[in-house]
Amino acid sequence: MIILKDIKCEYCNNDIEIATANDEFGVRFVSHGVCVYCGKEIVLPNESLKGFKKYYIYKNQEEDFKVIIAGSREFNNYNLLKLKCDEILKNKMQTHNIIIISGTARGTDLLGEKYAEEKGFEINRYPADWNLGKRAGYIRNTKMAENADALIALNCGTRGTNNMIEIAKRNGLLVRVISC
Ligand SMILES: [Zn+2]
Repeated sequence: MIILKDIKCEYCNNDIEIATANDEFGVRFVSHGVCVYCGKEIVLPNESLKGFKKYYIYKNQEEDFKVIIAGSREFNNYNLLKLKCDEILKNKMQTHNIIIISGTARGTDLLGEKYAEEKGFEINRYPADWNLGKRAGYIRNTKMAENADALIALNCGTRGTNNMIEIAKRNGLLVRVISC
């Protein structure tokens, strides 16, 4: 049985479980769940028929693993990013629920989001607050590092990327740097 993480019973607010076969990406094509407490059958939102992973995550089978994908705004080699991320995350995605953390800037950040969407990974977005002035990027990077387990950096040698790597190391994140 699999317990859904983000949805509770609409009658008693207890956990909902689904009984169905699962594959490596989780459960697909599930339309109904059953409350573990009151036994009511719960119709799940339509979204569950498509991107299961976006909405329902195993509560008791997978832990979150949050990965920042960051790098230059000029970086545009999606195939390289995908190849490297697949390689680096291959084992983790078997045992963990991968969440991609994005700074939402053009270039690497948005390619990281594209990668997440393609893989069915959840995305946590951290846009910089430019009202804060010049330090906005730094503050945003720090916030991301404080909420992540790892950083995959596509490093074209830009200052922002080096800054992200430095902050990630300081926060004890696992860091993988790919030269581009
Ligand atoms: Zn219930």
